[in-house]
Amino acid sequence: MKTDFEAYYADLRRKAVRQLETRRQECAAMDPAFAALQAKRSRVFLMPAQGAKLTLSTLRMEEEALLKRYGLPKDYLLPAYSCPLCQDTGYVGSPIKKKCACRLKLEQQDLVEAGRINERETFSGFREDIYPDEASRKEGKTICVLCQRFADALPAPKYPQLLLFGQAGRGKSFMGNAIAARAIERGIDTLRLTAYRMTEEVMNGFSNNASPLPRFTQVPLLVLDDLGTEPLIPNVTKESLFAIADQRNTSRLATVYISNLNADELTERYGERIASRITDASITKAIRFTGDSLRGSKEKNR
Ligand SMILES: [Zn+2]
Repeated sequence: MKTDFEAYYADLRRKAVRQLETRRQECAAMDPAFAALQAKRSRVFLMPAQGAKLTLSTLRMEEEALLKRYGLPKDYLLPAYSCPLCQDTGYVGSPIKKKCACRLKLEQQDLVEAGRINERETFSGFREDIYPDEASRKEGKTICVLCQRFADALPAPKYPQLLLFGQAGRGKSFMGNAIAARAIERGIDTLRLTAYRMTEEVMNGFSNNASPLPRFTQVPLLVLDDLGTEPLIPNVTKESLFAIADQRNTSRLATVYISNLNADELTERYGERIASRITDASITKAIRFTGDSLRGSKEKNR
């Protein structure tokens, strides 16, 4: 089940307001001075901004003194948000808003529940015994170390782009998942999806007159799996992929591209303009997966 985060936070805020209202009524019943302060406060909004600020802080001090007299905590008449950092909005920071840690945690739970993060596919779930021979085991271990290093250096690894490529069934997606899981664990906003799904989401976004691209161009970590298997929809696939790859490349945002295609094949499919963003040697570590398919042995191990 996908959580509607906006509705979830709106609910939390309503709850905080309701509880505050109850406490206000309690206090007003106890001492009319509370009600008088509240009435004064509601008139402050008619005042010019400068004076209003001063008056509010004076009222606040009077209220704190009054609360103290009744042995109540000084924040008793402030809304008790379940997350004081974001005041139950899910976002922190201004003017540039970032997702609050509480929201990232919620999203992570949601992803795990929705099966979009496979808990088996994490670095700690990495198993050497799935490799059929010594050479591929060695390669697997080396790649795992590189990917782990990348994940631990997020959000700004030395080489912000990873290109994991090689034939199907070599464990590329596993590494992509493990990087995403580690990033989310570390509180880094992450989007992991297949190129197919991304094309779908871009199409849906455009047909709803939304602007679907910022989500993909701005997320601190994008893991784009199965690049090369999505349909090439005219005016959509290449255009959006270029916008995303170009902007992420320019802003040096962490991106993991996973594909069965090598650099030449990427150029052939998408053209030089796109492929050069994805394989840009100055910011990309390209990791080739060779060896035999692991699919059979993986199955046996489950
Ligand atoms: Zn929060």
